[in-house]
Amino acid sequence: MDIRAQVSSVFHLDKCIGCHTCSIACKNLWTDRRGNEYMWWNNVETKPGTGYPTKWEDQEKYRGGWERVGSQLRLKQGGKASTIGKIFHNPDLPTMDDYYEPFTFKYADLTNAPAGTDQPTARPVSMVSGKPMKIEAGPNWDDDLSGSTVYAANDPGVIELSEEQQQQLFAIEKMVMFHLPRICNHCTNAACVASCPSGAIYKRGEDGIVLINQDKCRGWRMCVSACPYKKTYYGWATGKSEKCILCYPRQEAGEAPGCFHSCVGRIRYLGVLLYDADRIEATAMKADGELAAAQREMILDPFDPEVIKAAREGGLADQIIEAAQASPVYKFVKEWGIALPLHPEFRTLPMLFYVPPLLPVLSSENQGTQKISNDFFTSLEQARLPLKYLAGMFSGGNEEEVEAVYRRLIAVRIQRRAESVGDLSEAELLNARELSGLDRDALDAIFRMTSLTRIKERIVIPPMLREQAIEAGMDPEDYKQEMGFGSRKAPKRRW
Ligand code: SF4
Ligand code: SF4
Repeated sequence: MDIRAQVSSVFHLDKCIGCHTCSIACKNLWTDRRGNEYMWWNNVETKPGTGYPTKWEDQEKYRGGWERVGSQLRLKQGGKASTIGKIFHNPDLPTMDDYYEPFTFKYADLTNAPAGTDQPTARPVSMVSGKPMKIEAGPNWDDDLSGSTVYAANDPGVIELSEEQQQQLFAIEKMVMFHLPRICNHCTNAACVASCPSGAIYKRGEDGIVLINQDKCRGWRMCVSACPYKKTYYGWATGKSEKCILCYPRQEAGEAPGCFHSCVGRIRYLGVLLYDADRIEATAMKADGELAAAQREMILDPFDPEVIKAAREGGLADQIIEAAQASPVYKFVKEWGIALPLHPEFRTLPMLFYVPPLLPVLSSENQGTQKISNDFFTSLEQARLPLKYLAGMFSGGNEEEVEAVYRRLIAVRIQRRAESVGDLSEAELLNARELSGLDRDALDAIFRMTSLTRIKERIVIPPMLREQAIEAGMDPEDYKQEMGFGSRKAPKRRW
């Protein structure tokens, strides 16, 4: 057992209101620079929809992530020979059309225009050429247009659905959509790390945050094509690639990452997970539908005395183990089993998990009004947002995984309704609990964590190595060496 600590997150999709405050907070902090205009380390998409960059989920188009070849795991974009062949022209890279042509507005025209009878306007200009342009795409261009034939119909997940399921989805297009905020998943089996010919990308030994060493980066952009989530970006002004750093400088000062701190819907949870690094390869080799469960299996119980002993022997400080015990992410993913990884079939073992949106399933139409129905469990199969679509996003196509999550989320609502409104029978309540596999206390705890928490329960930042070094009176670099934290056991270089 090789126990490692990973700073991980949960995003609760039922709580996201699609306000984009997170994206703007991140942009102002990190990517408000020349050459970074189109970089959205945090972006928010509307689903069903095509996302950013367009159709990023379609790996037939972009060839990101990993694939199984016999008993081997290989980068989908190819190995060393293929990488060398693509150094001067990589056909798997997104183009400016897949992102958008960055633009701004001639704001000065608003104040400098000569007096006249017309209201002055600020015309859009390209940030690439400086010339006037017609805006035809943007980072959240399909925002709230989900369900339109242009956007939802082109969602790679929708294309997978049967004719009947597509009709079901589009017939109710006005009622069904949800927001999907995305940042780098700081994956355990990161394809970006494995693809870099310069060895510039690494997973920090102490907390698993994936970073790009700007001094080593040579701008080959293999990470851009290898990341199936398209969360590394090429900065054209510096000639280097950049990505989300999970605001590690803020975390080292005890502050939540900017997007977490500013989140209006309080949908974001942060905490440490302990996992067994010896199981990474075997986990990533599982069949698509088994990946979500296998990843859960890889995460270890921080209260288990065996795990604590092995973690200490592996050099993890007691404060990290305590942080893992208080981690809300552990509760969501492992204890309650209601958060799933996004597209586990990309096999990067993402460490950002999502609570799938319940609302489209739960709310049912009854004579023109929205009503909570008593037949939740039987109606799950006829849910307005097809389970197959959600399973395609969160469980490698395994509908049972998503269904199990919904049974738990529905049980929370039933228990709350029974307590606050009191119109459900004891039998219905017991049935809901039994189907969810959770007891009364666990369902209450989910309700509390979802709706009533304070920031210290939602965001549990472990003491970072820098703080530990200062406490030990040592230089952080010397401390890192002494504690044996090198670069994290990361996927082998596959180029
Ligand atoms: S999402 Fe995963 S593969 Fe993509 S940049 Fe982040 S760590 Fe790398
Ligand atoms: S700030 Fe929070 S609620 Fe608003 S879009 Fe971002 S994740 Fe959603």
